[in-house]
Amino acid sequence: MTATPAPDYLARLNAEQRAAVETLDGPLLVLAGAGTGKTRVLTTRFAHLLMTGRAQPHQVLAVTFTNKAAREMRERVGAILGRPVEGLWLGTFHALAARMLRRHAELAGLRPDFTILDPDDQARLLKQVMEAEGVDLKRWPVNGLMGIIQRWKDRGLPPGRIPAAESSDYANHRAEALYAAYQARLAALNAADFGDLLLHMTEILRGDAEVLARYHRLFRYILVDEYQDTNLVQYLWLRLLAQGHRNICCVGDDDQSIYSWRGAEIENILRFEKDFPGARIVRLESNYRSTRPILAAASGLIARNEGRLGKTLRPGRGDAEGEKIRVVSLWDSEEEARMVGARIEAARREGQDLGEIAILVRAGFQTRSFEERLIALGIPYRVFGGAKFYERLEIRDAVAYFRAMMNPADDLAFERIVNVPKRGLGETALAALHRAAREQGVPLRLAAQGLLQSEALRPKPRAALRELLEGLERWRAGLDGEGHVVVAQQVLEESGYTEMWKQDRSPEAAGRLDNLKELLRAMAEFGSMAAFLEHIALVMENDEAAEGARVSLMTLHAAKGLEFDMVFLPGWEEGLFPSQRSLDEGGAKALEEERRLAYVGITRARRRCIISHAANRRIYGNWTSTIPSRFLDELPPEEVVREGEAPAPHLPHSVFGGGPLIASRRPRVIEAGPWEVAERPARAAPFAVGQRVFHQKFGYGRITAIEEDRLDIAFEKGDPKRVLDRFVEPA
Ligand code: ATP
Ligand code: MG
Repeated sequence: MTATPAPDYLARLNAEQRAAVETLDGPLLVLAGAGTGKTRVLTTRFAHLLMTGRAQPHQVLAVTFTNKAAREMRERVGAILGRPVEGLWLGTFHALAARMLRRHAELAGLRPDFTILDPDDQARLLKQVMEAEGVDLKRWPVNGLMGIIQRWKDRGLPPGRIPAAESSDYANHRAEALYAAYQARLAALNAADFGDLLLHMTEILRGDAEVLARYHRLFRYILVDEYQDTNLVQYLWLRLLAQGHRNICCVGDDDQSIYSWRGAEIENILRFEKDFPGARIVRLESNYRSTRPILAAASGLIARNEGRLGKTLRPGRGDAEGEKIRVVSLWDSEEEARMVGARIEAARREGQDLGEIAILVRAGFQTRSFEERLIALGIPYRVFGGAKFYERLEIRDAVAYFRAMMNPADDLAFERIVNVPKRGLGETALAALHRAAREQGVPLRLAAQGLLQSEALRPKPRAALRELLEGLERWRAGLDGEGHVVVAQQVLEESGYTEMWKQDRSPEAAGRLDNLKELLRAMAEFGSMAAFLEHIALVMENDEAAEGARVSLMTLHAAKGLEFDMVFLPGWEEGLFPSQRSLDEGGAKALEEERRLAYVGITRARRRCIISHAANRRIYGNWTSTIPSRFLDELPPEEVVREGEAPAPHLPHSVFGGGPLIASRRPRVIEAGPWEVAERPARAAPFAVGQRVFHQKFGYGRITAIEEDRLDIAFEKGDPKRVLDRFVEPA
């Protein structure tokens, strides 16, 4: 019997993958580890459906995790077909739901041209609703309610259908009523927030058999990537749509579930078989992405998690043996950035394509030191899923304050900050300001000075303006006496800018505060405010250059599904990764999610994976001696080469016993003069245990332990502390 040769695109699959592509009828779950070709299967299946005539392009619904992934899938399907494909239902949950909802807006009480509100608008609207309902906003911050509503929407719960178990005691049990009022306001404004897109659509599909039947007829096949990170409402939407033909194919990996904080529910994977009886489950076990040591390291790490479905993963690449994972210990984050920069330089000299290099960080603020280093080396880069450090909103605001302080003629800067935070300088006041400046032909700030002498402004805005102008003068004068970093901190605090973000309960606020601290930290490396501002101006200009391949910087969360030849994973320190938040929550669950994130990070690498940690990090203005991430200890030692002496004590886990690992592992704070410029301290300490000493800030005490240049001291006043020896003298 002679079989007809398989088409080219099928020949590029292994047997299991091929089964997953060719099993076209009925529900199918592909459950497999990183890099086993899940996304390739989905893309090929899409093309196969079209090639075999099983479906027209518009009859397939395909869900990807990001818009970028959707673009790639469209291109790959087009490449397999040999022609561009149009009219696809291919995109993220949000994009697909929005498109559907426009067709049925009236069923959700909207018109087809409804507006989609961004989180800012959402918060503003919610605030109005709360004010109208007489809620005490000081006690009950807007973002608290926003989070609750988001959670309800993620769980597919409209107002009036919140079960007791999901209710909230927020604002004395008024959250549900406020939710209802908010939804009514949205309808009146012909608007929807992001959460509404899926919520409205599931409600419509549930409530209107005719509409549901239409979609059942339309979508013969449904494809879902990154299924492990779907939340309940996404799941409900999928299940409703899939009940027609039941041709739904989901691919996912429970070990890569990293969005539980956005309501993702791993249980959706487990539920699949129950909801779709007779579902086929295909497992893929060959990893085609990474070399054996990278895989072994990732597998060894993730094996520490308990709540796993369990999967086999073996190297499928021809050239599977390769470099071991590097774990590099550095002194501080600057040295870490230098190490990464130097290795990228070296790789570039060896001909490594820069587009195949990524630096994946746990927290957004970490990108700053790498960005600076890459700029200094002239290596082009881009930041995915977020702005470059100096382009971030809060950084631009802060820098505008500094520019306005330094240069009274800098109108752009002044205008940016004049009413940020809100100080009652509304449109009228600003218009008066601009008019005066124009008429007199002077900068805004000078015109403002003049306005203070007149009656042009009402008393309240006038007082606010006076305070700002006086502040700018005072801070500027402060520069002559105090260090520029101290002044910068004053600017941000006294202007109310930091406070504004502290009051803000949105999920981004904490990251913004971290970025502001990182900004001050960066500033400490420059001799003066002027030098720093010049540096920033140059950094921003540098931006415009460089086309072509670039190094990618992004968070681990944004890196899901991607792959690179060379991957840097910096900042593996307790409190940073795993994050302090996951440690504070204390539960094993949060920690397991961090570990999955580490697994996602390592498995992005094809050939080289360089993990690093710094022994010292300046956090919240103080030098902090860090403890290497527990994840480093969990990597199988035989797959890892350690480089650089471990400058910090590296205590084995057993020291901390088996219980909650938290309290004793917290980084201890090393006090240094605030914002002092980093300088590598001499290591030989002329001190002895038991010696009485004097510390510049904490006074007298006795040394209880010495580790290199760090001293543990029992102070005569206050708690014992760990300090750097250069701030200590023999008493
Ligand atoms: P992740 O879990 O990270 O999303 P994945 O399971 O979706 O990974 P893919 O991204 O589809 O994996 O594939 C990983 C890499 O392996 C890709 O470069 C892909 O082109 C390649 N690959 C997949 N299957 C094969 C195969 N049968 N032969 C050769 N290469 C393959
Ligand atoms: Mg994938």
